[in-house]
Amino acid sequence: MLDMNFVLRQDTAPAPDDGCDVNDENASAAVVRILLIDDDPAYLHLCQRYLSRQTSQKYEVVAVSTAAAAFETFSEQEFDCLLIDYALPDLSGTQVIRTLQETLTDSPPPTIILTAGGGEAAAAEAVRAGASDFLSKRLVSSASLVRAINNAVEKGRLKTSIEARSSELQSANEQLKQKNEEIQRFYQSVSHEVKTPLAAAREFIAITLDGVAGPVTEKQKETLSHALDSCDQITAHFNDLIEMTRLDAAKIPLKKQVGSLESVVTRSLAAISSAVEAKSIYLRRQIASPLPLVLIDGNRVIQVLSNLLANAIKYTEPNGTITLSVTHAVDDGCVEIAVADTGCGITEDDLPHVFDRLYQVEHGGDELMGAGLGLGLSIAKEIVELHGGRIWAESTFRKGSRFVFQLPVARSIYDESEEAE
Ligand code: ADP
Repeated sequence: MLDMNFVLRQDTAPAPDDGCDVNDENASAAVVRILLIDDDPAYLHLCQRYLSRQTSQKYEVVAVSTAAAAFETFSEQEFDCLLIDYALPDLSGTQVIRTLQETLTDSPPPTIILTAGGGEAAAAEAVRAGASDFLSKRLVSSASLVRAINNAVEKGRLKTSIEARSSELQSANEQLKQKNEEIQRFYQSVSHEVKTPLAAAREFIAITLDGVAGPVTEKQKETLSHALDSCDQITAHFNDLIEMTRLDAAKIPLKKQVGSLESVVTRSLAAISSAVEAKSIYLRRQIASPLPLVLIDGNRVIQVLSNLLANAIKYTEPNGTITLSVTHAVDDGCVEIAVADTGCGITEDDLPHVFDRLYQVEHGGDELMGAGLGLGLSIAKEIVELHGGRIWAESTFRKGSRFVFQLPVARSIYDESEEAE
């Protein structure tokens, strides 16, 4: 058995006849500390000879002959690499790796398993347990030993820096989550505080407009109507903000039911009928019949469709045309809902960003269109994706836009109902 703690500090120049200095590209100036666990003195001296030849990299080897001695040494000193004989007197190489993994808080340093001839199966087992590499004692040369050590050390350094980076990212992520929750709480309390007096103010304006508080001139009626619109706009903004924070916190449980999109379409169109009329917009409907069944939260899909229709109205000049089409895209296994308009269109540069949160396109001179917060489409996208669908936009600047979303058909239920007919 070897003396425990045999130490080779290799600072000396190589013997002139050794010749072979492996200038491995991974070599670095820092001393590489190796713990060699092997009870074969001959092999220890061979390693010593091989490593002492190197000039471009210094190695410091601490040698022990048993796993027990290795654990003791390891608890006192730090190493860059472990060289472990697979067949130690007390444990196997794999057991040493497993014990280190279980007992250390950080990952153990990179490990190279040394096998005697024909030990490939054992080496493969050790690699599966976490060894970086294995070397056959019979075939090992100066070059292969140094290269294996340098590669293992480099891999170990990379692993450590990746682990450090990922723990930094994890803690940054935690902080962001906390900040996000604070912002959500802030939005919710502010919107609650603002919405209640706003609703009261809206009520007073409406009563005044109706003449309950005394006669109102035509000019005053016009001004009061603008005030009402502004109240509604502020309320809509707060609703969007609350909606966004709920979506962020995944607090929007969908109440999905199997049904047809017909009632969703009817209710969405009813919600925008007065705005369509007010702008003298021609509304075309192309609704396929019968439509397959879909598994949806009806109110949420109405929210999406109403948003697309409201945008189409907002960005289309009076007397323009809006076309709502609903078709069964059989090949895609979904129902496709499209809202096309003959409005101002979106430039190629802006188009990829319209679903981004808070993204708003400068339309130049269209303040009257009613400014939003740039949240409507991002909320629509999240709702569609929560349904397992997708949404996209097509547009030609100054000619018009087409917003499309697809919802998957409730396949099995649809098939069953088809069969029943
Ligand atoms: P906003 O509430 O500001 O309208 P949205 O998320 O609904 O926000 O839309 C994002 C941007 O996409 C809008 O600022 C608008 O410029 C553009 N957009 C959306 N729908 C249309 C449309 N039908 N025609 C032209 N531009 C549109």
